[in-house]
Amino acid sequence: MVDINNSVFTVEQQNYLTGFVSGVLQGRSLPYLGQDAEKRFTDDPEEAVETVYGTPLDELCREELIKHAQNGLDCYPTMLLNAESNSFPTAEDSFRYKFHGLFHVSPAQDSFMLRCRIAGGALSSSQLRGLARMAELYGPGHADLTTRANVQIREIEPKNCPAILDELCDLGLTSQGSGADNVRNITASPTTGFDPDELIDVLPYAKAMHHYILRNRDLYGLPRKFNIAYDSGGRISACADTNDIAFYAVRTMNGEVAFRLQLCGITGHKQFATDAGILLTPSQTIPVAAAILRVFIENGDRTNRKKARLKYLVDDWGIPRLLQETERKLTFPLTFTPVESCKVPNPKTKHGHLGIHAQSDGKNYIGVLTPVGRLSCRQMTDLASIADRYGRGEIRLTVWQNLLIPGIPDENVEAAAAAIIAAGLDYRPASITGGIIACTGSRGCKYAAADTKGNAVELGRLLSEKFQLDQPINIHLTGCNHSCAQHYIGDIGLMGVPVKNAAGETVDGYNIVLGGGVDDTQAIAREVWKAVAFTDIPALLEKLLSHYLSNRVENESFIRF
Ligand code: SF4
Repeated sequence: MVDINNSVFTVEQQNYLTGFVSGVLQGRSLPYLGQDAEKRFTDDPEEAVETVYGTPLDELCREELIKHAQNGLDCYPTMLLNAESNSFPTAEDSFRYKFHGLFHVSPAQDSFMLRCRIAGGALSSSQLRGLARMAELYGPGHADLTTRANVQIREIEPKNCPAILDELCDLGLTSQGSGADNVRNITASPTTGFDPDELIDVLPYAKAMHHYILRNRDLYGLPRKFNIAYDSGGRISACADTNDIAFYAVRTMNGEVAFRLQLCGITGHKQFATDAGILLTPSQTIPVAAAILRVFIENGDRTNRKKARLKYLVDDWGIPRLLQETERKLTFPLTFTPVESCKVPNPKTKHGHLGIHAQSDGKNYIGVLTPVGRLSCRQMTDLASIADRYGRGEIRLTVWQNLLIPGIPDENVEAAAAAIIAAGLDYRPASITGGIIACTGSRGCKYAAADTKGNAVELGRLLSEKFQLDQPINIHLTGCNHSCAQHYIGDIGLMGVPVKNAAGETVDGYNIVLGGGVDDTQAIAREVWKAVAFTDIPALLEKLLSHYLSNRVENESFIRF
């Protein structure tokens, strides 16, 4: 599993790993690589203090103590025991189950949610069919597409947890590290490999990053979660600038294709990733991400969850020091190049994730609208069959909670489009419902102050009955300030807050922000209304859109208005 000859490791790390491997061969129990406590000795040995990366145990936050007691990756035997008695785990083990992508979502639902990891959102038709089978057998008969181009299956009983993980592996998929303090699903431009505008196919790099992380146990148990994305320079945004690390493909003034490194995107904290002044060759992106991760592991805050993301380490240190520490872990120097030495990327096509589009190889892809990301098992198997029959047996998930079917020859386009409609879905651009994103909400998440998915569907229906906009807009509904649906990047963003109605009852309500965007329309939306009951929101947004239509200058977009 551990390739100690990989140039990513320093001599010091190689020695450590050699010790680890021989320890395993001698039959010792697995150490918690990366979180083994060390003794920090003072002059007086009596005062030796046990630490995790320099933080004394008595200063660690609760989650760090749980990780220190047992690595979440090692809780599978506990899961087997709990499955036997169909029991839910202890609070500590619930946290460890997330290392396997299993979330106990009580009290919203007394069951587990499985979050997969699907590198670059690329699925084969047989994998989609397999996921549909699992959602039918173990889940509620449907699955959800997420804003990290991923699939979630809900309503899993404790007795089925090991089986669902095993079946996922049999499909050639995994969920390892999709929850808790780990590197989340690696995302990529969904049209990569067939996008007429792109500079490089980034899927091989997204997959290589995915496999590198899976193979290196020391990259689990970070101070906090971590997101990585690749942008190919193609037409559809992967919202890469909302990630902790974003690799943006660019063409230099010399005509070469390379990647700009951007750091510390975290839009829930109103911050996009910023250019770090570095230009990387494609194959350098993986060791550089690995080195940044290890700097973060060694130096991130393990005492306060609210200050544990990479952003806060960089706030303390500044980007130059982070890069200095990163470079010390690499066998090659970083190339500092100003952003001006690269050509300005092509703008993205808003709602390019919908409709019929020509590919670079003469075939076509069809972007399918899957309202708030929810698909029945029947629709999943229908889509798999459409991909097999008319495409190339592949599906690409997008961060817009929908999917594309690529590789469709001209002569099959009409039949594929008709089959999508017959499956109860749509592919035609829809200026309002085509850009509605919603997090899980109160039907499945304990943090939610509102039924985001239900409200989103209703809002989309009501607004599209009234308006046919000639400019696509994005509306993001997020159930709480964790901002899983990234409300700050929506043209219109709604964040759930409890609101009292006239009778004094708590009802679904939202703070409303306006004017957000990503990539070439990058902007953090500004809060305009606070604590509005959902029942009042359709009328409020109708007034807003009417005002926009009556007062805009020519085809002025909503975000520029
Ligand atoms: Fe749950 Fe909040 Fe995330 Fe929505 S934004 S899924 S309510 S944690």
